[in-house]
Amino acid sequence: MNDATIAGAFPPQLHDHGDCVAQALETADKLCHDKGLRFTQLRKRVLELVWTSHKPVGAYDILEKLNREGRKAAPPTVYRALEFLIEAELVHRLDSLNAFVGCADPSSSHSGQFLICRGCRSVAELDDSAISDVVNRAAADLGFAAVHQMLEIQGLCKACQKS
Ligand SMILES: [Zn+2]
Ligand SMILES: [Zn+2]
Ligand SMILES: [Zn+2]
Repeated sequence: MNDATIAGAFPPQLHDHGDCVAQALETADKLCHDKGLRFTQLRKRVLELVWTSHKPVGAYDILEKLNREGRKAAPPTVYRALEFLIEAELVHRLDSLNAFVGCADPSSSHSGQFLICRGCRSVAELDDSAISDVVNRAAADLGFAAVHQMLEIQGLCKACQKS
């Protein structure tokens, strides 16, 4: 059994989200420094906006917020910043929602299984290597070398099952 979701309780319980954001930015700063990546003001701000909550955020929402701050960002600028953050594994893209969510544990390499609540749109990331191992093995049986896995599992969180 996997111990827990990386983000803790699912859906996240009442907590000081400012701590999550501060932690995410600090981790990103360190990770970029270690990897020799340029963590520009814009990239930092986009990461911060992705981390507005534990729910996925659309690129358009980010763009709108940046423009409201007077940054006059064009869509390609935002997409490039998101691309950078995904590449650095600071952010994950959820294809089924066409939205982005911050990675709670970017320093450890994990395989990306996501639980997505259809009720409240909360997302939790699992780090269960048993799942990815099974996929890798099944793929290898077909002579396929799997390099990247993104599993998106939709359902209802505990709170939404009740209501
Ligand atoms: Zn939080
Ligand atoms: Zn992650
Ligand atoms: Zn829910």
